[in-house]
Amino acid sequence: MNSFSIGNIYEITGLKTVDINILPENYCGFDCVFCPLGRTIVKTNRTFHFEGTKEFITKLSRFLDDNQLELVVIKNGESLANAEIKDVIKLIKNRNIKIRLLSNGYVLNNSEYRNILQMCDEVVGELAVTNEKDFQKLQRPLEGYTLKKYINNMMEFRKWFKGKFIFDITIIKNYSDSDKSIEIFKSIITKLSPDEVYFETPDEERFKGAFQISKEKLNEINKYGY
Ligand code: SF4
Repeated sequence: MNSFSIGNIYEITGLKTVDINILPENYCGFDCVFCPLGRTIVKTNRTFHFEGTKEFITKLSRFLDDNQLELVVIKNGESLANAEIKDVIKLIKNRNIKIRLLSNGYVLNNSEYRNILQMCDEVVGELAVTNEKDFQKLQRPLEGYTLKKYINNMMEFRKWFKGKFIFDITIIKNYSDSDKSIEIFKSIITKLSPDEVYFETPDEERFKGAFQISKEKLNEINKYGY
């Protein structure tokens, strides 16, 4: 993953969009075996003052001045680990640009992040498995993390977050692609009542055999998305 990076401009639902990464390397509370970024370098739920943030904010400011953007997506790892994320968000909001923040979802109900999350227009929370054994095996979270708490954290977040909550479910072959798993996902969707929900599957070449489900099956499951 490229540290402190600004991606190419593209469109999401007609909005001129760019992805940014505000981490120096992969900081996350999980270390998923299907992570597109590779192994988590720092497994954590803490925040850090990263040396490169100030320089990145200057670079981003120039970029936003030069490009008329409508949406910025903050993604890659757990971006909330950057203690200066509020400054990044302010910079973007001051230009009337929408923000979508991606998180694995576990820390969304941490009170220390509440002010930051309230500044975002859209927040994405994720889920990939439906039982504790698979959660520990495939997502290798911080000690003490449980699937039950994970889902509860997102449910609590959902109660107070006023922006758009997008629920991103990753279907893992032989782990969360059975009819039973889909039924469990559906009941979690009902409880969470996200504004948007979609299903995906790890699409990197190296995951093809092990974790990726077929396009046909994904399309079939995606009829439960909206
Ligand atoms: S939660 Fe996302 S960023 Fe973190 S290890 Fe898993 S796939 Fe990677």
